[in-house]
Amino acid sequence: MYLKCPVCKKEWNASLKVARHIFGNGDKAHRAWVNSQGVSFTDLLIRQATGSGNQGFMVLAKIVESSQDGTSGVAG
Ligand SMILES: [Zn+2]
Repeated sequence: MYLKCPVCKKEWNASLKVARHIFGNGDKAHRAWVNSQGVSFTDLLIRQATGSGNQGFMVLAKIVESSQDGTSGVAG
């Protein structure tokens, strides 16, 4: 199952990889998308840096997963 980055539409085979891409990219568009999901990009980065077990990545991965659903009709 492939998951798309909701921002730039690149695809990975795991939501965690999409999350890592979003953090790693960290440009304005990606940050804005994360913030538009009701979470703070900066806060997630801090959680990732200071927490254990990839907490920041996991939270973002869940958001990426749910963003894949309910997007029918938005096919590019
Ligand atoms: Zn992207």
